[in-house]
Amino acid sequence: FELERLGVHDSVEAVFPPSELADFLADLPLEVGVIGDDEIAACDAVVTLEYREAFLEVDWVHSIQAGVDRFPFDEFEADDVVLTNSTGIHDRWVGETVAGYLLSFARRLHDHVANQQERRWDQPEWDEGFTLSGTTACVLGTGTLGSGVAEVLGSLGVRVTGVRRSAAPVPGFEEVYATEDLLEAVADADFVIVTLPLTDETRHLVDADVFEAMRGDAYFVNVGRGPVVDEAALIDALESGTIEGAALDVFETEPLPEESPLWELDEVIVTPHCAAFTEDYFRAIGDIVHENVSRLESGEEFYNRVV
Ligand code: NAD
Repeated sequence: FELERLGVHDSVEAVFPPSELADFLADLPLEVGVIGDDEIAACDAVVTLEYREAFLEVDWVHSIQAGVDRFPFDEFEADDVVLTNSTGIHDRWVGETVAGYLLSFARRLHDHVANQQERRWDQPEWDEGFTLSGTTACVLGTGTLGSGVAEVLGSLGVRVTGVRRSAAPVPGFEEVYATEDLLEAVADADFVIVTLPLTDETRHLVDADVFEAMRGDAYFVNVGRGPVVDEAALIDALESGTIEGAALDVFETEPLPEESPLWELDEVIVTPHCAAFTEDYFRAIGDIVHENVSRLESGEEFYNRVV
């Protein structure tokens, strides 16, 4: 197909101003503009956060997220629509967010911020603080996110192990376990960190058995996708003291419902699916779109093609 008109769908607004990306792409040899739902059909390609049924009418859809679990792959395939995603860019961004969670737990920063809201001078107990150096983090998923987490945590002296489909080694991970050995992999870790995509295989992969296998003083982190974790089992594990705490960026239902107990649990940090937000986001997306426009022109396969 040929590209004449590329639309930046206004749903990307949740992550960055759509006009910033449209301006960044202005040098492409095609018409680029910010579009709403009623202008999708007039485009050959769309860059988007959310999914719309009208996307099945265009030739190419690019997701500004790495996770494309909301897109109906079969229908894209049947209607000959190319789907590309944005994996490969979130490594250090999410890695630093995860380091922030771990540092908060270790140095009690979340307690101090909560106390500050109440103008309360309240020093922690002598044995509450610890250092990250020498702790172990088990990272589920050893792709872009997992590797970025391993890199940043490694620089803080954390020993990082990984879980992937096969136990073959991956740079940055001291030890790698296969998914079937998940319970063994998490058993000794101070931190268990999910960076997995949502697939049929990963849905509820982290369940009550996994929390049971973790140490009682261990923390759980999810920056992958909410439904990879059985959230009811997580809440049980937190409330019963089976694990010490959790930092969560993604949830089974987003936005996290107001009545969720997760908002109020002491050792739980909740962030609103923003682990990868940075001022550079639109430029990284723009680079992928540029790359794919030039690949399309020279007849090469799309970069980051999913369907
Ligand atoms: P990626 O494709 O680079 O890495 C995914 C990794 O998961 C791969 O190494 C893959 O082998 C592994 N994997 C898949 N199924 C598995 C299974 N059953 N058992 C073990 N390992 C398995 O993708 P990425 O860029 O690292 O992103 C991963 C996911 O993180 C995305 O799909 C998205 O859902 C999520 N994400 C969240 C944020 C956020 O803001 N919180 C940002 C970026 C990505």
